[in-house]
Amino acid sequence: TESRFQARHILITGGGGEIGQAAAERLTAEGAHVSLLDIDGDKLAAAAARLAELGNAPRTYACDITDAAAVADTVAQVIDDGGPLVGLFNNAGYQGAFAPVQDYPGDDFARVMQINVVGAFNVLQRVSRAMITAGRGGAVVNTASMAGLSGPPNMPAYGTSKAAIIGLTQTAAKDLAPHDIRVNAVSPGFIGPGFMWERQVEQQASVASPYYADEPDAVAAQMIASVPMRRYGRLDEIASAVAFLLSDDASYMTGTNLPLSGG
Ligand code: NAD
Repeated sequence: TESRFQARHILITGGGGEIGQAAAERLTAEGAHVSLLDIDGDKLAAAAARLAELGNAPRTYACDITDAAAVADTVAQVIDDGGPLVGLFNNAGYQGAFAPVQDYPGDDFARVMQINVVGAFNVLQRVSRAMITAGRGGAVVNTASMAGLSGPPNMPAYGTSKAAIIGLTQTAAKDLAPHDIRVNAVSPGFIGPGFMWERQVEQQASVASPYYADEPDAVAAQMIASVPMRRYGRLDEIASAVAFLLSDDASYMTGTNLPLSGG
């Protein structure tokens, strides 16, 4: 599999984040030429430095995916700099606040939807247009979440946004199939260790809730106990599924959502 992505240009959004970086490492190791997009320039620089140590420095682009005009400019620049895109890992996201629906802050609900849904749409639209123009087909993986399938308590905005991503994946798969562009989603469950895991455990502990204990270690134990495999997933286990869906090994898969949740 060393060369599944030889000389293929793939854009990763949320490329400064944990899952984005793990995917960048995996795709680079298999020959891809990756470009990283993120709103956070410091995270991008750190991710690029790590990849450079592995022998392949990516180009990085600071961009807010909620800004449609900035996305249009940035995607055009990515292609100008690195050549036509044949892959997109549409992965930037925001976990939002933790509160039950009756107390959830409305402005944060809108922000979660703006980043996770409208932002993902902005990137998907611009990249798919460019793929159609280039006429070589392509593959897209959107990052949904088990939260989009299971309705986690105290996460009404995040769960809703990720359910929307599964819907967007299904429709985009149909709209883009005539152009030989496949669109699939991955739904990570509890992934750790890392920022989102720690934040989720702390936040669920701090919200008075009948579903979770009020102390982070106890919440972590409750979450792990709910997983049949009795452990959280590793970042490289997400990266390998993303690589599979982006590769020709998944050539007859489109419109699917792959749960990565330990059962
Ligand atoms: P992360 O916070 O490390 O990465 C998310 C990245 O998205 C960050 O680098 C952030 O700067 C970037 N981002 C946020 N808003 C942006 C914007 N407006 N424009 C551009 N970039 C923006 O977290 P992660 O775990 O790597 O998350 C990656 C994806 O995986 C997200 O979509 C997240 O919802 C999803 N996810 C994560 C988990 C988990 O447990 N880690 C589980 C399920 C789904």
